[in-house]
Amino acid sequence: MVHRRKFIQASVGGTLGIILGKIAAGNQAPAVLKGQPVVISTWDAGMEANKAAWEILSKGGRALDAVEKGVMVTEASQNCCVGLGANPDRDGFVTLDACIMDEFSNCGSVAFLERIKHPVSVARRVMEKTPHVMLVGAGAQQFALAEGFPLEEQKLSPEAAGAYQEWLLKSEYKPPLINVENKGHGPFAPARLSNGEWNHDTIGMVAMDTKGNLSGSCTTSGAGFKMRGRVGDSPIIGAGLFVDNEAGACTATGQGEDVIRVAGSHSVVELMRQGLSPEAACKKIIERIVKIKKEKAKNIQVAFLALNKKGIPGAYAIHPGFRYAIRSGKKEMLVNAGSYFKE
Ligand code: ASP
Repeated sequence: MVHRRKFIQASVGGTLGIILGKIAAGNQAPAVLKGQPVVISTWDAGMEANKAAWEILSKGGRALDAVEKGVMVTEASQNCCVGLGANPDRDGFVTLDACIMDEFSNCGSVAFLERIKHPVSVARRVMEKTPHVMLVGAGAQQFALAEGFPLEEQKLSPEAAGAYQEWLLKSEYKPPLINVENKGHGPFAPARLSNGEWNHDTIGMVAMDTKGNLSGSCTTSGAGFKMRGRVGDSPIIGAGLFVDNEAGACTATGQGEDVIRVAGSHSVVELMRQGLSPEAACKKIIERIVKIKKEKAKNIQVAFLALNKKGIPGAYAIHPGFRYAIRSGKKEMLVNAGSYFKE
């Protein structure tokens, strides 16, 4: 967390870095050259995830493969909010949500999945091997096992176990569940840090390959210490992720309930179809959420990250602090998104 700003500064030295630096300043991002792939993903963990995606994109591989392999890196890391190392629900179990969507509007999703390391890959199997879009809970796990995914041990990571013990001291569960005092991931994942930044870590990734095709993925453990069975926006096609190969792709992070109620990612893509830039489209839907939530918007964070068919990225959040990772050509960096509230 402390190193984020340093990284941004360290990364803006190269040519692309300078170009991309303008995005952070709110200028229109330049189009990525035709045939030049690009991958963008949410938060700082996106930097590592993009590397894996880039391995595929830079060799002319398919965006779908890139977005799966990319977020698998985060799923396998000890991330507070993605994969089996993440914070548990309030009963002490890690439950995972993920989805994936390709350039043909094929999509697959799993929710409330336990003890499987790579939910995004299970989501892809749902997409490719079943007549369905979404499998949940025991059924999703049963399908994963039948597909050969190993059943992992039911054990919290040391970090998650510590956070859970801390949470148990009060066991508070009061929607909208924001603890602005909390220095880490509070009684709920969307916590405001002591430095005023908003902390979410779902990874959503969208990419365009050398053929100009778009795909996206999204994976999370959802809100930490959530009610058992709670599912957020991340595995919901149209909410946490949406891809339309003619219009663009979008993913979301933040308070899932408020992304779902505006069909967030789908709404952003539809605005891009109407001609809005990715940033303007994300901003419009953020404004819609703020309008709906009124005063409560001050206590929630939601961010959208989008890519249009020209390879132009854009993002917008309710509060400052949201940044995304981009990889294109030979450069890679983090970009600060604009926000509705300025501090
Ligand atoms: N969007 C995720 C959810 O609501 C959480 C997050 O991004 O922090 O499940």
